[in-house]
Amino acid sequence: MTKKTAMVRRGVIPFARLSLIGFFPIAVHVSAQPVHLVAVTFDDLPYVMSDKASRSDNQKDAQPANRAILAALRHDAVPVTAFVNEDKVRALGSLGTKILTQWNQGTLTLANHAAHHVDSNMLTPAQFENEIKEGERSIGPLAHKAGRKLEFFRFPFNHVGDTEPKRKALSEIVRRLGYRQAATTIDVEDYLFNDAYECAHAAGNPVDEQRILQAYIDYARIEIPCYQKLDEKIMGYDVPAVMLLHSNRLNAVALPQILALFREQHYRFVTLTQAQSDPAFKREPAIATRFGPMWGYRWAKERHIPVDGRLEQEPPDWVRNYCHKL
Ligand SMILES: [Zn+2]
Repeated sequence: MTKKTAMVRRGVIPFARLSLIGFFPIAVHVSAQPVHLVAVTFDDLPYVMSDKASRSDNQKDAQPANRAILAALRHDAVPVTAFVNEDKVRALGSLGTKILTQWNQGTLTLANHAAHHVDSNMLTPAQFENEIKEGERSIGPLAHKAGRKLEFFRFPFNHVGDTEPKRKALSEIVRRLGYRQAATTIDVEDYLFNDAYECAHAAGNPVDEQRILQAYIDYARIEIPCYQKLDEKIMGYDVPAVMLLHSNRLNAVALPQILALFREQHYRFVTLTQAQSDPAFKREPAIATRFGPMWGYRWAKERHIPVDGRLEQEPPDWVRNYCHKL
């Protein structure tokens, strides 16, 4: 997409066309139509079990949490790609597959997130290849039965390879197994807020649950435009966003508000395939890293554009330390 088409999509009339309209050399906003695109993705399906709860309590909570998430998605007609860990499917017994079936219809699509949520930094490329293959055990037959193909793979922790030869080898394996690598451009650290939320829940403290929920929404409200501006600065136009969320207790409650933030900030929901059809995603950034930075930071590094990641706001310390203080 060119910069000009990006401007048109954002409801901004390019300067050259202003002569037909008037004499004011300013951009004119023509409507309040959605101007940005976002693909919502969920990781760690079917459910992020809490280590503060028993296995049976986790099994009991997985189904209603998924039901709430799916209801919020249906309410706003949000297409989603859902990244599954095979070990989390097995941990739920027959319920695991039952939940996944609900994510394998309409505009909801299953994808591979490795069998055991392993860190590629700790494995050889051959070991990691087995993880991807084993990750297909449940989702492969489900996708096949629905006449679908598994299109996307996402690295756990977004760890794409900590050296350039390894990054290349892993990228090649993902491609050879028939996948596209899923991008991630917005991270609101929902796993961290969820940890605190789980601790408050286990302690039977609904007041703190509410405080943590509010802190999460406040943080997401800041982070969403922060990443949009970062990507636009680096790439020179408004790149479709890919939002990372997790299937957990917090999002079962928070998702309607998270989706509302996108609507308020003039986003339109698209599929991951639609988002990644943008030229920005034609290939993944050739940046090896031990960490899992968002693609905006990788694009910046690849293009030698200085960005100070320390300027990005962090989640509040009281949330980060919440579980330690109980
Ligand atoms: Zn994950």
